[in-house]
Amino acid sequence: MKNEIKTIIFATGNSGKLREIKEIFKDLDINILSMKEAGVSADPKEDGRSFEENSLIKANAVRRLVDSGYPEPESVVVMADDSGLEVDFLGKAPGIMSARFMGHDTSYDIKNNEILKRLSGVAEENRTARFVCAVSAVFSGGESLVTKKTMEGRIGYKIEGENGFGYDPIFIPDGYDVTSATISPEEKNEISHRGKALRSMYEMLKDRF
Ligand code: IMP
Repeated sequence: MKNEIKTIIFATGNSGKLREIKEIFKDLDINILSMKEAGVSADPKEDGRSFEENSLIKANAVRRLVDSGYPEPESVVVMADDSGLEVDFLGKAPGIMSARFMGHDTSYDIKNNEILKRLSGVAEENRTARFVCAVSAVFSGGESLVTKKTMEGRIGYKIEGENGFGYDPIFIPDGYDVTSATISPEEKNEISHRGKALRSMYEMLKDRF
C-alpha cells in the first residue's frame, strides 16, 4: 500500500553504511534512522548459514523491538545487511565468517597477510574472489524481502591502498588493476556489492512508499 511506510530503521551501528543508504534512498520522502537514532539496540548471534539468513536474523531482531514499543510500528520497515569476502581457492572462506576470521579483534593487516600467504604461489586465474552483500527488509506483520549482490574480482599479491576498510587492500575488482582500497569511495559505491544490493532493495521498495 502506498504512503504507509514513513521510516526505515537500518540495523547497523556503522555510520558509513547509513550514509550510503541515505544517498541511495534520497529521492524518497522517508526518514532513515540508525538503531541508535531510533533508540533500539540489538546484537543478535549471527548463526545463519548464509549472508541472506544473517541479514534476516539482524533485521528480525530489530523488528521485534520495534513491534514491542516503537510508535506506529506499522509505518516502519527494518532493514539490515550482511556482507563478506569469498575466496574461491579457500573454499569460499572467509565468507560469512569474514568479520570473525582469525578473531574479531585481529587487525585487518594480519587477516589480509594471512590470506595472501594462503594464496602464495597460486596462479592469477585461481585467485578469483568476490565481495557479497545481502540486504533484507522486514515489515510489520512479518513479510520480508531479501536481495543479494556481488562485486567480482581477484586477490592481489600485496597489500595496497589507503581507502576502504577490511579486505579492500587485497581485493582487485574485475576491470581494474588496483585494489578497491585504491579507488575513491564514490567510485567503489558505484560498483560495490553493498551499493548494488541497496539499489536493488530500493527498486523493490520504492513503489511502497
Ligand atoms: P558486516 O556485514 O558488517 O558483518 O561485515 C562483514 C565483514 O566483511 C567486514 O567486517 C569486512 O571484513 C568484510 N567486508 C564486507 N564488505 C567489505 C568491503 O566493501 N570491503 C572490505 N571488506 C568488506
